[in-house]
Amino acid sequence: MLRVAVIGSGPSGIYAAQSLNKHASLPGSPTGGVQVDVIDRLPCPYGLVRYGVAPDHGKIKSITLALRKVLETEGIRFLGNLDVGVDVSMEELHQHYDAIVFAYGAAIDRRLGIDGETLAGSFSATDFVAWYSGHPDTQIDRFTLDAKDVVVVGVGNVAVDVARILAKTSEDLRPTDLPDHVLDVLAASHVTDIHVLGRRGPAQAKFTTKELRELGELVNADVIVREDELVLDEASEATIAKDANQRRNLEIMRSWAAAQPSGKPRRIHLRFLVRPASVHGTERVEGVEIERTELDGTGNVKGTGEFSTIPAQMVLRSVGYRGQGLAGLPFDERNGTIPHDAGRVMRDGVAVPGEYVAGWIKRGPTGVIGTNKSDASETITTLLADLPNMPKAPERDPQALLRLLAERGVHVVDWEGWVGIDEAEIALGQAQGRERIKIAERDLLLGHAIRR
Ligand code: NAP
Repeated sequence: MLRVAVIGSGPSGIYAAQSLNKHASLPGSPTGGVQVDVIDRLPCPYGLVRYGVAPDHGKIKSITLALRKVLETEGIRFLGNLDVGVDVSMEELHQHYDAIVFAYGAAIDRRLGIDGETLAGSFSATDFVAWYSGHPDTQIDRFTLDAKDVVVVGVGNVAVDVARILAKTSEDLRPTDLPDHVLDVLAASHVTDIHVLGRRGPAQAKFTTKELRELGELVNADVIVREDELVLDEASEATIAKDANQRRNLEIMRSWAAAQPSGKPRRIHLRFLVRPASVHGTERVEGVEIERTELDGTGNVKGTGEFSTIPAQMVLRSVGYRGQGLAGLPFDERNGTIPHDAGRVMRDGVAVPGEYVAGWIKRGPTGVIGTNKSDASETITTLLADLPNMPKAPERDPQALLRLLAERGVHVVDWEGWVGIDEAEIALGQAQGRERIKIAERDLLLGHAIRR
């Protein structure tokens, strides 16, 4: 019987567990059966599906149903509220598991590296997303929306998500699972203008068409695009010719540029060829100085030396996620990933049978949820190919780790515990005629998790 720990219960970790389980149940599988523990430092499973996918994207969130089935499969256990490196060491994990798959994602934000970015009122979009998603590590009073003008830096799907959430009313969002404290802040929002800044041209924007199109369907906000910023260089023309997503995006943005704003109470200003030079303010954010850029023919830009300032009281830096290292593992600081060969961790260029990676900590923060399925499958193929050379962990009793953690006073949230949280959130929602209301506070989550 092969014993595997998967660290991280987001899509990449769960797909890795599913792939392992599927292979192990094939007739003649070399594994001799498999037990997989999916470990997460949070009490709740599903990673960015729970704490990243926007609350109004119910269809994407419904992937939870498929992920849930995997965690309910015999031979797969969920062990939440268990922080690797804090509650249990890497060495201890190796005592209990033949193989470990690290699939803990890319949790931190990237920095802009400009003056003023740490002023009060300047946040990472990942922080804002975590707050409205009810992430237990975020203070519930972390955000107010006293700002009238908000600058969002970056033109990826996260930027579009945060701009859309800021543009919607609390009434629009009431049917979602947003915690009440978030709805209260949205209801008191002063935001009227959201300035989304792309440093390159429209053909280099990273958002996808479906997400872009939604901005044009907002009841409460106009989208304003400047015709003179929809500039294409040679590389952009080539991109538009071969990439249907970018071509459709451009068509949509051109139609917005040609339209007159209809006077809705909020506005999303979608800007291109402007890069943030500094954030102004004495104690708090008062504005963002931007520099006009121009395309250089290759799809990259250079500065023009032409500066202006957008008055703003809040900045959300939405310039991508970044992975973090874990003590005891190699780490590539340049791109925030763990070095690997087809999913097998590499230490100083040498393969380590028994240690694997999957998801964003393997390939960087790119792709959609489904991308993680093929990614995890590659990793598990590698793991299975390594079986003949993989040393067996000395401890074979699946309960031994749980006993050790109980002795340490670690309150592991198992599947039953999560079901307790799940039911409590559904009951909270039903009391208000909503499907679910998320619980954000860690102690409340743990209170609802049934203790074994
Ligand atoms: P992203 O797609 O990598 O976009 C990052 C944006 O930040 C780019 O426009 C980038 O511009 C810009 N940027 C980077 N450094 C900058 C700087 N110093 N100054 C100004 N702009 C800068 O990242 P993301 O939006 O965080 O999304 C992460 C992943 O999650 C993506 O794969 C995304 O599709 C996925 N996601 C999907 C959904 C969905 O499907 N609905 C929702 C959310 C996230 P350059 O291109 O010029 O570098």
